[in-house]
Amino acid sequence: MGSPIETTGNAPVPGAGAAALYPFRDRGLPMRHQDPSGDGAGANKSPMTDRIVRLIAAARGFEDDGHYSEARALRAAALSEEIRLTGRRTRLGHGLEQEVRDLVDDFRAAQGAQELVTVLEAIAESAPVRPAAATHRLYVCRWCGHAEPAVAPNPCPGCGAGGLVFTEVPGVFFLELVPVPQLLEALAATPEQCRRYCAGLDEDRAALGEWPVATIVSHLIGANELLGGSAIEALERDDPPARALIAPEAVSAGQGTTLQQRLDTFAEARRALLERVGGLTPAQWERSRVHPLWERMTVQRYLSYIARHEHLHLAHLRASADRARGGGMGHGLGRDTRRRRGRHSELLGPTP
Ligand SMILES: [Zn+2]
Repeated sequence: MGSPIETTGNAPVPGAGAAALYPFRDRGLPMRHQDPSGDGAGANKSPMTDRIVRLIAAARGFEDDGHYSEARALRAAALSEEIRLTGRRTRLGHGLEQEVRDLVDDFRAAQGAQELVTVLEAIAESAPVRPAAATHRLYVCRWCGHAEPAVAPNPCPGCGAGGLVFTEVPGVFFLELVPVPQLLEALAATPEQCRRYCAGLDEDRAALGEWPVATIVSHLIGANELLGGSAIEALERDDPPARALIAPEAVSAGQGTTLQQRLDTFAEARRALLERVGGLTPAQWERSRVHPLWERMTVQRYLSYIARHEHLHLAHLRASADRARGGGMGHGLGRDTRRRRGRHSELLGPTP
């Protein structure tokens, strides 16, 4: 007890209860492959969930026989279905707390992995506040499904395989590494993409909608500052101390300035970040620091997070800009509309 991870993990999240991070989940992104049932209940329908399980079982069958290309295609199909069928989902304050309580009951009754039962129970009991038990990394054996927090065991207590059969499960795909050349290219391109999407919007329109473009740009500046700053600190100091947590919806910078000024600030901050990381050696990309939720984070992982996070929000930005241009979003969904509440305290992490 008393480790920074546990203390911050139990602390109330600053800014929680403020606007949700992705307020327009229902009206936001065009889903090309929407749940065909259209009623949001897709994930609960057994033929659909059954299809995902069958796809994965078939993938593992191909894997057993050494046909990895076929296995890959079936796994991709399963992942695609998983995402498509969960396009509409419950959020905190709107039933997610009860849903996780029901799920843990199901998971326990189905004799799911014991370590995960423990973690899920802690989450169910404390939702929506993050329990200490949920702050550790989680590893799942790719052969037998045994799960362990914090460190992958070697050998697997379930099947006896060596420790490298474990996969670490990331909390969000933003944390998956992007190769350095692609990463630098993506980071360099975003500010200009934002300008293109925002072209022609005046200040009034920039403030329209459920998640206005000016607010989205501020969120991107804030994330760049926060996570880019953490990465630079990891480069410049040996083991800088873990920082306090900040709720992602509170990650924002440049409020009170015009959209143009925010776009300029973003471009300038990005230029400065890229200048700092442009010539890093492989060893420097691997420099790391402790993050209170994600444990050890390397420079490459911080920047991968920034780049993937931006690529997602570019879609929100474009959708919000298109609506503001059309004027359609302003009616009844203006910025004064009470937003859906939620906590997304896992997403961004430490304060600058
Ligand atoms: Zn195993």
